[in-house]
Amino acid sequence: MKTIITAALTGAISPKSKNPNIPVTPKEIAADGIRCWKAGASILHLHMRDDNFKGILDKERFRETVNILRGSCDAILNLTTSGELNVSDERRLEHVLELKPEMATFDAGTINASDGIFENSVEFLMKLGKLLIENGVRPEVEVMDLGMISAAQYYQSKGALKAPVHYQFVLGFGFSGAPATPDNLLYMKSKIPSDATFSAFGTGNSHLPILYTTIAIGGHVRVGLEDNLFYGPGVLATNETLVQRAGRVIREFGNDVATPADAREILGLRQIPPSGERQ
Ligand code: ZN
Repeated sequence: MKTIITAALTGAISPKSKNPNIPVTPKEIAADGIRCWKAGASILHLHMRDDNFKGILDKERFRETVNILRGSCDAILNLTTSGELNVSDERRLEHVLELKPEMATFDAGTINASDGIFENSVEFLMKLGKLLIENGVRPEVEVMDLGMISAAQYYQSKGALKAPVHYQFVLGFGFSGAPATPDNLLYMKSKIPSDATFSAFGTGNSHLPILYTTIAIGGHVRVGLEDNLFYGPGVLATNETLVQRAGRVIREFGNDVATPADAREILGLRQIPPSGERQ
């Protein structure tokens, strides 16, 4: 099978003081994204940071990053609709509606985060889902706990999500999410519809067990400094080294690393002409 690697380059939370390899400015994020694309990542999941490294939904920073990436590679861009707490629904949507990426995140419920409430109200998710459908943006349905899978099915029944749904299992989200264990991953996979596709990752130390288990059960994978700062004990990661390792593991399982064209076919994304060459 062909396994898609998503690179989650920056996130909103981890400070650069914990790993100086976290890309922060639009130019740094785009350059790191291109390195990850060359290393085999088909999807780049993007967050922005402000000058103090705080997570921010800044349309202009997204625009600068997206423009560089679109001019340099054919990676699928997946923009977060989260990454800044306590902001209006409009602020969470404006960069997506304007830049129209191929994918954007749909976080299927509210959950306590380390720095506040990660709020995703029914009203917001109904609005988000319908706008993504209208604008041809494929939602990546992030689920941090089992109930969010049934929530996604609820939003699908209300017309805010369309089958087949692509899930991202977020395991080990702070102290509130489903713990990042292989048995939780297996159980969550057993609860999604048969036509759904899925990807998964575990945060921090659970990164490798979840990576291996996901590949073993036919899922796609996400790696990157948003989720995990270390390559191994005491060894800081870069986004590129995490993508390279995921590629090696995928090939050792006998799978192929999906190209962006493969990933578009698997996920049913609209085709855009490639503007760069992979090495
Ligand atoms: Zn994210």
